[in-house]
Amino acid sequence: MSLAVTLLGTGSPMPHPDRAGPATLISAGSGPDAEHYLVDAGRGVLMRLAAAGLGAANLTAVLITHLHSDHITDLNDVITTRWVMTLPPTTPTPLTIVGPIGTRMVVEHILASLAPDIAYRIAHHEDLEQPPLVDVIEVVEGPIDLPGKVTIRSAPTDHKPVEPSVGFRFDHTDEDGAASAVVAGDTVPCAGLDDLCAGAGALVHSVIRKDIIAKIPLQRMQDTLDYHSSPEEAADTAQRAGIGTLILTHYVPPIPTGTVGDDWRALAAGHFTGTIELGDDLHRIDLPGVDAGLTLDAGD
Ligand SMILES: [Zn+2]
Ligand SMILES: [Zn+2]
Repeated sequence: MSLAVTLLGTGSPMPHPDRAGPATLISAGSGPDAEHYLVDAGRGVLMRLAAAGLGAANLTAVLITHLHSDHITDLNDVITTRWVMTLPPTTPTPLTIVGPIGTRMVVEHILASLAPDIAYRIAHHEDLEQPPLVDVIEVVEGPIDLPGKVTIRSAPTDHKPVEPSVGFRFDHTDEDGAASAVVAGDTVPCAGLDDLCAGAGALVHSVIRKDIIAKIPLQRMQDTLDYHSSPEEAADTAQRAGIGTLILTHYVPPIPTGTVGDDWRALAAGHFTGTIELGDDLHRIDLPGVDAGLTLDAGD
């Protein structure tokens, strides 16, 4: 296994008893050397991470696609829990948070809101001597300088009027071969996402059912139509790029509990010939590595 995608939270701003807020985990390798990248930190992310057998201290980095509240609402929990749950003799390491321009300001405000809690805990715990260590990297487009084995780059997406927004591509090669996955976040089809997706193995894409939402006579719902992709549009993006596996998430409206979203799958399948994945929270998709040499030859 070269890369794995876990849908930690498949929900949206609409609270749902079975779907946590937007969060996707990209994992590379296994055991103590494994790397785990959290993309977005929506409602309940650490509960889902715990269900996946991991904690905030296991995260190699957190990557934020955009600063909509549903994607960052539990970032404060990730920051605080990593800080409090990193126990001696483990030396605390900074939590790396990657995101679009504006992320630094948001993280500074989160830390400011946590000031009373930080003071309480430092005063109460003798071995807790410093506030949470956070290292923010703001990105626009291009490679991201992180120390891990996974190569990560960003490109702008189109979620206007939410600006800026970015998608991320993860590339990892090990003894099993090379694998890659793109996490689009919330976006309409755009050149930046096409660029990230070109030749990638998997695409994780937020989707809304425009055919359903368009019929709801509420302006607040209608407003969401113009800055999200439908399953058909996400499928078109995947097909254009030659993606192998399209992974749909961030379901609006929520896919009812106990059903498997066959209607969503059918809409995407009309536009995409590869594998389509959707599911409940914690659905995991292993992306086997392909021989790097064969990948290069495939373009001939
Ligand atoms: Zn969203
Ligand atoms: Zn959004």
